[in-house]
Amino acid sequence: MREMPKTDLIKIYNKLLNQFGHKKWWPADTPFEVVVGAILTQQTKWENVEKAIRNMKESGLMAEEPIARAEIEKLEGLVRCTGFFRQKAKRLKAVSTFFYENPDILDKPVGELRETLLSLNGVGEETADSIVLYAADKPKFVIDAYTKRMCSCMDIEGDYGTLQSLFESSIPQDVPLYKEFHALIVEYGKQFCGKKRCGECVLVDNKIHWHIKPQMKSPRVTPLEGVSTSTVTPVDCVHTYASTLAYVDGRPQGAQPLTYAP
Ligand code: SF4
Repeated sequence: MREMPKTDLIKIYNKLLNQFGHKKWWPADTPFEVVVGAILTQQTKWENVEKAIRNMKESGLMAEEPIARAEIEKLEGLVRCTGFFRQKAKRLKAVSTFFYENPDILDKPVGELRETLLSLNGVGEETADSIVLYAADKPKFVIDAYTKRMCSCMDIEGDYGTLQSLFESSIPQDVPLYKEFHALIVEYGKQFCGKKRCGECVLVDNKIHWHIKPQMKSPRVTPLEGVSTSTVTPVDCVHTYASTLAYVDGRPQGAQPLTYAP
């Protein structure tokens, strides 16, 4: 694995923010809805999760106690659209019971919270970290399959913990930044990696000088430096997402959300 200069990840962040604007993740009305979504999103598309969450809300099942007390068959029917519905319904009941019996769980320190979540059946690292970051508002960088793929394309190999340490040691420990960065990576993964648009990739073969694996070499179609900035509204950035604006050398640049140090 090559060593990545700390500013490189900030450059990626700024490029993705420039490309997509703020994603405003995680879409949920309550922290517990994030927990439910984090379990349901395993091995399925987010659109299916949205449908299941709608079903659960319409049935009055979007809180710890009602889910813990719900009949398993009913829950299975509501989340069927997310796949692995029997397993997910069982996990939802177990996690909901735990959250009902431990109402202060999200207030625990980040390390203790993560360990506790990981001890629950069906909660792996990505699910636990999604809950820590998006439900508890605590700093844990989420590594998903897209993050791993992008890192691999940049010749950065490593397991979950290695990549997480890389991100956490390379960017400021800032919850809104962590949230936004992961959301942007997922968006990029869906729009580029998932659609095999490697010929248009803005993360490799550019000024950051990342190594490109031979099989990834292909002409770039979209000029990186010409990317439109119209997807981001400066007023929205400055007033609502001040702490997730562009970073330069590890420092947030509140008034200039679309710039970074070359
Ligand atoms: S678009 Fe292709 S080359 Fe670029 S990060 Fe994704 S998989 Fe890798």
